[in-house]
Amino acid sequence: MNFGDFGDKGLIFDIKRDSSEDGPGIRTTVFFKGCPLSCIWCQNPEGKKLLPEPDVHGNQIGTWYSIDELMYHLLQDKPFFETSGGGVTLSGGEATLQMEFSSKLLQALKREGIHTALETSGFFPYLKFKEKMLPWLDLIYFDLKLIDETESKQYCGRSNKTVLENFTQLLADAQIPVIPRIPLIPGITTTEENLKGIAAFLKQHGVKSCALMPYNPLWLGKLKKLGITTRYENSRFMTASEQNACADYFIK
Ligand code: SF4
Repeated sequence: MNFGDFGDKGLIFDIKRDSSEDGPGIRTTVFFKGCPLSCIWCQNPEGKKLLPEPDVHGNQIGTWYSIDELMYHLLQDKPFFETSGGGVTLSGGEATLQMEFSSKLLQALKREGIHTALETSGFFPYLKFKEKMLPWLDLIYFDLKLIDETESKQYCGRSNKTVLENFTQLLADAQIPVIPRIPLIPGITTTEENLKGIAAFLKQHGVKSCALMPYNPLWLGKLKKLGITTRYENSRFMTASEQNACADYFIK
């Protein structure tokens, strides 16, 4: 897996304006194409491949941007960021997979005084991330999915060792908030064993809060558009009581 190959161009599959879920204030979220993991429930399946690709209608998914081109779009929202305390969030896919471009983008945003956030799977080369991205980030949302290594390989395609090590290292190094996020995937991440294990891991590292992300089945429509079949066919939203039962593991 090569990280940061493209340098001057970034491969982006969406830019979402007016987002209120990806950090404080009104935000614009940039979705980077390509992810080193392959979670069977991935809500952004069009973001997995590190290549432009057509959907079933022949429309191209993935556009190459230079920093200037991307900043031209993002700066149009600057007044909204300033009045709401918002900013730009790098998401995906996995923005750290395009490390050189992400680094340049973050630096360009900070030169404009814009708040920056990252949503990450936590799977990245730590020292490079620390040098290239961490200095220009204001907030990190860090996914913790599965505490068991075998299950991580089974459902996300890779060991969780790097993810857990990176999280631990970030807690020691980062001078900014690092917020763990746990996707609630019924039957996979919501098992008692997994949630208890993540809760114990967070407690062991002195982390007092985390965000739970309830399962959203709307991604199944995207799969059809992409012509992809999945091993996880759950079309039901989680009930409030199911969500509360998961939260109970983290409330002390
Ligand atoms: S880490 Fe996120 S973007 Fe990557 S495959 Fe998993 S759910 Fe999808």
